[in-house]
Amino acid sequence: MANEDLQIPGYEIPPEMQGQVAVTTLDRIYNWGRKNSLWPMMFGLACCAIEMIATAASRFDFARFGMEVMRPSPRQADVMIVSGTVTKKMVPQIVRLYNQMPEPKYVVAMGACASGGGPFKEGYNVVSGIDKFIPVDVYIPGCPPTPQALINGLMMLQKKVERESLRTARWYSREPAPAIPVPVLGPDLMDPRRYDEIRAYTLSKRNQQTTEEQTEA
Ligand code: SF4
Repeated sequence: MANEDLQIPGYEIPPEMQGQVAVTTLDRIYNWGRKNSLWPMMFGLACCAIEMIATAASRFDFARFGMEVMRPSPRQADVMIVSGTVTKKMVPQIVRLYNQMPEPKYVVAMGACASGGGPFKEGYNVVSGIDKFIPVDVYIPGCPPTPQALINGLMMLQKKVERESLRTARWYSREPAPAIPVPVLGPDLMDPRRYDEIRAYTLSKRNQQTTEEQTEA
């Protein structure tokens, strides 16, 4: 146990007991345990996924951070690493998987595609970043980011976990965040939360068109 991670400054531990005893807070020990056992979900979307796989393999080995247990089930995962191009066809599945992850849960947007559409931005089949649909905690630039960059991003996530507090964490609030509506794959991707807005816009366009036709007649 790294004493400096847990120790509250100002409480001196006698030298003979250092390494065996730590004076700490509930938040610190709770977050220390969580940040060293973040389990990523095992799924990849495109070329960035190959770098994620390399990060898990022996040369880079993110088992050193307690992250080697990649879970094939969202119900056992803490971190969703969105590694690759996010197509419109894939977004409903990603949102559904995110909803199935238990709190506390985190999202890492790995690479240019997941962060903002990347080289395919504004392509007919690609969304401009996964953060349009689910909340992202860490963005990692690059096309693709190297394994070192992914490890750096995961260490940033650990720092974020370290700063959280049991008193203010959203997953312990009496009213937990509602599930995110799964987008609908239609002629174009639709967010069900915007149905009313889309319906009002479509109606106004139709009325405008009818008025123009009547004026011309
Ligand atoms: S960011 Fe680059 S490497 Fe990653 S999925 Fe997109 S095109 Fe592939």
